[in-house]
Amino acid sequence: MYQLTNKEVSRILKELAKLMELKGENKFKVRAYYNASRQLINMSDNIQDLAREGKIRNIPGVGEGIARSIKEIMEKGYSPELEELKAELPGGLLEIIKIPGLGPKRAYQLFNELGVTNLEELKSALNTGKARKLKGFGVKTEENLKNKIEKYESFKNTYLLKEALGILDELKRYIKKCPGVSRVKMTGEARRKKELVNSLEILVASKEKESVLEYLRKLSFAKSIEEKEENGYLLTFEDDIRIKVFIVPPDMFCFYLFYLTGSKDHVQKMETIADDAGYQLTIKGLYKDSSKIKVKNEEEIYTTLGVSYIIPELRENRGEITAGFKNCLPDSINLRDIKGDLHIHSSYSDGGFSIREIIEAARKKGYEYLAITDHSRSLKVASGLSVDRLFKQIEEIDKLQEEYDDIIIFKGIEVDINKDGSLDYSDEVLSYLDFVIASVHTAFNMDRDKMTSRLIKAMENPHVNAIGHPRGRLLKRRDAYKIDMDRIIQVASETNTCLEINSSPDRLDIDDVLARKAKEVGVKLVINTDAHHLEELNNMSLGVAVARRGWLEREDVINTMNAEELQELLRRD
Ligand SMILES: [Zn+2]
Ligand SMILES: [Zn+2]
Repeated sequence: MYQLTNKEVSRILKELAKLMELKGENKFKVRAYYNASRQLINMSDNIQDLAREGKIRNIPGVGEGIARSIKEIMEKGYSPELEELKAELPGGLLEIIKIPGLGPKRAYQLFNELGVTNLEELKSALNTGKARKLKGFGVKTEENLKNKIEKYESFKNTYLLKEALGILDELKRYIKKCPGVSRVKMTGEARRKKELVNSLEILVASKEKESVLEYLRKLSFAKSIEEKEENGYLLTFEDDIRIKVFIVPPDMFCFYLFYLTGSKDHVQKMETIADDAGYQLTIKGLYKDSSKIKVKNEEEIYTTLGVSYIIPELRENRGEITAGFKNCLPDSINLRDIKGDLHIHSSYSDGGFSIREIIEAARKKGYEYLAITDHSRSLKVASGLSVDRLFKQIEEIDKLQEEYDDIIIFKGIEVDINKDGSLDYSDEVLSYLDFVIASVHTAFNMDRDKMTSRLIKAMENPHVNAIGHPRGRLLKRRDAYKIDMDRIIQVASETNTCLEINSSPDRLDIDDVLARKAKEVGVKLVINTDAHHLEELNNMSLGVAVARRGWLEREDVINTMNAEELQELLRRD
């Protein structure tokens, strides 16, 4: 048997999963390989022991097929399966499947029929009109793909906040186990919770820099480590993920943390404030008359300079330092303030879970209420509910409500806003519902005035409680539709309509800047996940991050109210 580590086997399984995906193998099989690969990294058992004792099947999620693959890998030191796939499929295809709209199936078709093996060849196949001749392609798909490639290339090293947090958390957990490391934190845009993160950064406190570097070099999934600046190293991973790691002595940690978190403008303003107060603030310490001031943590950097502590989400030089001086920073909303989720899809439309499963998950979260808001009838692609199905759902909710006395289930809908601003159900139908979200899901390419009037008309309907994902953008994929948001915010205030902060990782819509504008004129916000699967209920933290960046407090957000207060607010009489 070969002495392979968990990490090495994990890497092989991941590679296998990717190539199987590319070949268009069964989705469940592919996902199982990805899962097994992750399990191997996280588990404490040694794969060699398990293999020796014949206990590979004991690893959670490892079925017969994967167990056979692992056994073969352990016996031969490599995976013949993987080598075979590799010989069949060129590596450049792996990049191609990252382009939205180009799944593994299409990538394989391009490879098989046109010999496309990488992004450059794909671009040329599109530009010369060769691709449009393939079955299922055509001119429209060609145009579409060209745009998607352009977008893909411009966002190549940009991560959605959720992706960035996931990647950084994983590396953080790993570095924490390194002997001699006292603290590890992410910095930069990820720590400020910006919706898109361009630079992934981790800060490590240790007195033994060399041994930390040695530890990092042993990461089998890191391709290279280069020294880039004083204390700063660039780690390049498979998939071309790049993470900057800074390793500093513990007494410099809080200053590096402050500087690397940024934003640049915020840091500069704080330097000026230090200057004015007769201090000198640098990345290595705070000085007065050239002697170093003792500062225990980041908070004390602020308080020493007479400013209240400013949370990372606010550090954008948008007035927070002045507010910190006057001690009038917002009492920022927290995840624990959220008492329920008011935008959830069930298996009645395109969600993956039954209403009962959703209720159970919401109770586990400690929520006081939730709203089931499936799609309305005209949204056929998402199995929108006919009026009959809607009433059937209402009946089911009534029945379920009788069983649960610790959570309120609001009957809701995400009703489509038609082109002319009318809604997809009559007012009479809507009057049976507790919570109505109106959203645009079709005809995005209207001119600005028409789109603005369309939403205004929806807000003027007395049954509408909130506008869902108000700008319709998909981060990295689709721009917001053209709309006059100042006007929307004004009408929201006149009609008492909430604006949603949609927490889907690729929406985060409305954003921090608009949320703050809305708050300033007294418009209420609602932070929802728009979950279609139970695990997406956890995206609430992303919406809360947007709210924190937008200076929101508890009272600006309706789903921080307790159940009775919210029922009172939603009462229709
Ligand atoms: Zn929607
Ligand atoms: Zn939705």
